[in-house]
Amino acid sequence: MRMAKIPPAPAALAAALLALAPLAGAQSAPPETIVLKAAHIFDARDGTLKDGGVVVVRGDRIVSVGAADVPAGARVVDLGDATLLPGFIDAHTHVTMQFEKNYYLMRYHDLMRFPSEQVLYGALYAKRTLEAGFTTVRNVGASDFEDISLRNAINAGVTEGPRMLVSAHGIGSPGGHFDAASFPPDEVKPEGPIEGICSGPEQCRQAVRYQMKWGADVIKIAASGGVLSESDPVDVPQLTLDEMKAIISEAHAWRRKVAAHCHGDAAARLAIEAGIDSIEHGSFLTEDTLKLMKAKGVVLVPTRITVEWVQKEAETYPPVIAAKARAAAAAHTAMMKNALRIGVPIALGTDAGVFPHGLNGQEFGLYVNLGMTPAQALLSGTRDDARLLGIDADVGTLEAGKVADVVAVPGNVLSNIRATEHPTLVMHLGRIWVHKGPTGEDIPEPRGHESITAGEPPDAHAGAFGEFF
Ligand SMILES: [Zn+2]
Repeated sequence: MRMAKIPPAPAALAAALLALAPLAGAQSAPPETIVLKAAHIFDARDGTLKDGGVVVVRGDRIVSVGAADVPAGARVVDLGDATLLPGFIDAHTHVTMQFEKNYYLMRYHDLMRFPSEQVLYGALYAKRTLEAGFTTVRNVGASDFEDISLRNAINAGVTEGPRMLVSAHGIGSPGGHFDAASFPPDEVKPEGPIEGICSGPEQCRQAVRYQMKWGADVIKIAASGGVLSESDPVDVPQLTLDEMKAIISEAHAWRRKVAAHCHGDAAARLAIEAGIDSIEHGSFLTEDTLKLMKAKGVVLVPTRITVEWVQKEAETYPPVIAAKARAAAAAHTAMMKNALRIGVPIALGTDAGVFPHGLNGQEFGLYVNLGMTPAQALLSGTRDDARLLGIDADVGTLEAGKVADVVAVPGNVLSNIRATEHPTLVMHLGRIWVHKGPTGEDIPEPRGHESITAGEPPDAHAGAFGEFF
């Protein structure tokens, strides 16, 4: 264990709890065996759809997939004309916040809510995300370590939500996209490296170290300007090459990946040169840059639903934001078509929080609108996301030995990709969170199998997962 000799800082404490988890599990009743059956199953190893889907689950793991005999004493959940898929993954969320219809009211709430109050909203949004079939999210940016608070509470079983890999504060420059709004410094204290705001390679390295110290699983940077900030042009670089190299080398030394918020092409070139793992949004990327990404295996996370959402809502934002939203949206469609033609690796991510949580599944259909096949879209939000997040040994495909994260959607998902927006079953860590009948009615779990918040929260860590938790 990497922190065994360090005094009990919160992260070391979490690691100690993790070590206790198997012991705590051994003291409870033997896990139930559940057999999920449906007319179809999506094989995310190769993107094919097969008939006669069967997934056998015991505890939090998949025991077998395919036509197996039903084990004695197992509970059979027959979903009828539906497709079984791996739990969906969203590589770009902001689960601790949500834009309001009134942009100015949201800014007011930003200032007036306590972090402990805001994270309660996060708990609600996390539940909605899980109920939408997203059993894993990579949360790339939050204030006041609210994402770390929420992740830890979910892992401890005191609230409900998806598996979360979190970045804590995004790393960016003063005045840049992540530097909040341009509040007068006498009224709102300017932010520094602890809040992810830094100048120069050494201060940026320090900012990364702080996020990891308090439990960041991944690092997020603002390589270029953004749409939803008022002081900056949307496309120009906001970190220097040396700053990005310092950030990325520090994160990689800790085996953390780095995701770049990046609309602009020049900024993307710097990020790629510095060793970035993924480019998020990517609105103004040129063909040459997309080809470079393909050659280097840099993943594009399109956040298409947000691009369209922000364009649709443009008139509700301040004029400078509205203009940037329209410019980015206009460029993003052509960029996506180029990326698909060139064959850039694409992993599904939405930027949930800019639009209401729970609509994440619309991202699949939007990729198909732009020319992806339904199977490619599904792979981007399952297997390929799991690879990007570095958790493909545990999630992303339905295979014996993997974590029991399973979603069912109505009918044949390849003939109707938008079925992903209405899952009829959501299983996470072997527990059924959503189960709907043929007319959309909720089918409750039998007594003793209800959601964790129905009873006493467990004392120990709820579910061991990789090295991240
Ligand atoms: Zn974002």
